[in-house]
Amino acid sequence: MKAVCSECRKETELKSPMRYECECGGLLEIVHDFSGLDPDKLKRLFHERRSERSTIYASGVWRYKELIAPELGEQSIITKQEGNTGLYESRRAAEYASVRRVWLKAQSENPSGSFKDNGMTAAVSHGYELGYRRFACSSTGNTSSSLAMYAAIGSQASVVLVPRNGVSDNKVLQSIAYGAELRTFEGTYDDGIAFLKAHAEELGLYVCNSINPLRIEGQKSIIFEIAQDMDWKLPEWFILPGGALSNAAALGRGLYDLFSLGFIDKLPRVAVVQAEGASPFHRLVASLAGHDTPHSQHAASPRIQPEPQPHTRASALNIGNPPSWRKALHTLNLTHGVTVSVSDFDIMEAKAVIDRSGIGCEPASAASLAGLRKLVLDGIIHPEQTAVCLLTGHLLKDTEAIKEYHIGQRWGKFMANAPRHVDLNRISGLEIL
Ligand SMILES: *Cc1c(COP(=O)(O)O)cnc(C)c1O
Ligand SMILES: [Zn+2]
Repeated sequence: MKAVCSECRKETELKSPMRYECECGGLLEIVHDFSGLDPDKLKRLFHERRSERSTIYASGVWRYKELIAPELGEQSIITKQEGNTGLYESRRAAEYASVRRVWLKAQSENPSGSFKDNGMTAAVSHGYELGYRRFACSSTGNTSSSLAMYAAIGSQASVVLVPRNGVSDNKVLQSIAYGAELRTFEGTYDDGIAFLKAHAEELGLYVCNSINPLRIEGQKSIIFEIAQDMDWKLPEWFILPGGALSNAAALGRGLYDLFSLGFIDKLPRVAVVQAEGASPFHRLVASLAGHDTPHSQHAASPRIQPEPQPHTRASALNIGNPPSWRKALHTLNLTHGVTVSVSDFDIMEAKAVIDRSGIGCEPASAASLAGLRKLVLDGIIHPEQTAVCLLTGHLLKDTEAIKEYHIGQRWGKFMANAPRHVDLNRISGLEIL
């Protein structure tokens, strides 16, 4: 499989030992030869595969194999029928954000409960094909759960680095239950990434973080699936939370593929939402916006200023040095995109709205709806417009957050729904209501 540096465009062949970065420090991206692909034929093929129940094409990622990893051998693919997640229109979310229509893309419905599965099946399969048998990641909890699940399905070993503080117990427990060799450490996700960059090769580990270009290819399937569900006509806005910025990167690549191949004839605008305590990308983009050509290649080559002590209740966004920031900038360039940051309070309130709508998500995911609401209030998104919000992780990924909101009422009373204790022997039938 061929890759190219996303910055200096230097080509490399992806083989063992696996590489993730170019000498210039740029991340690699996969190069495809899409010549000869016919979008109408592919649309029919993708449609037919929706009725698959047993082959690799039952997966909502591998359904689009031709656009993701055409050279990967079918026998190498480790899959758990990931993707195939719901796209739900939510009137409650639209009312909350004051826009005409909102759809929630529930990546929370993936087999390990987060969107990480879309990219992870591609990364683990590629590493397996290269001959790796030990897989590793640094994680705020969902990457480790996803990797641990795929390693278990494929009878491989997984080593996962998780910060000792600030990670949801639900995710740590899920990872060890699947059999990951879990190592906690003092520090942040960013420190774990730096460790793996320095030591993975000597340890024979295949790194499954989003610095791995296969993760990004797999995650393109999220926008492919949305586009297919909407009959290849996307709404005006696509709103997603930004932590390591892998989704922001994958979304741009996926949209570029769909647009350049002729699957869609109009690009949505993309909004990346960061949590206030961990928003280095938003600060970078805001600083560029002061210049006359904010997203142009000519604006003096920008650099991200890492946040040394990221802190947000949305633990999946607790990332101070997002590896994919340059790729995410490309996405903003392509889609005339924007960024915004939201407070933990706004995130927790938006989460309560999404939960109450019956769809549910973990705190980080709700940054999307909180961001949409803020962008409407700021006048950047018009109330007559339509949007898809990406829900990245499952409601049960952070049960402590549910307690805080509904029982502790730490985040206001707007939707708080505390249970009431009753004595069934003393209460009359009517009093229970
Ligand atoms: C990983 C994760 C994020 C952050 O996504 P990036 O692609 O790294 O920006 C957001 N929400 C949840 C639930 C996650 O697990
Ligand atoms: Zn380079």
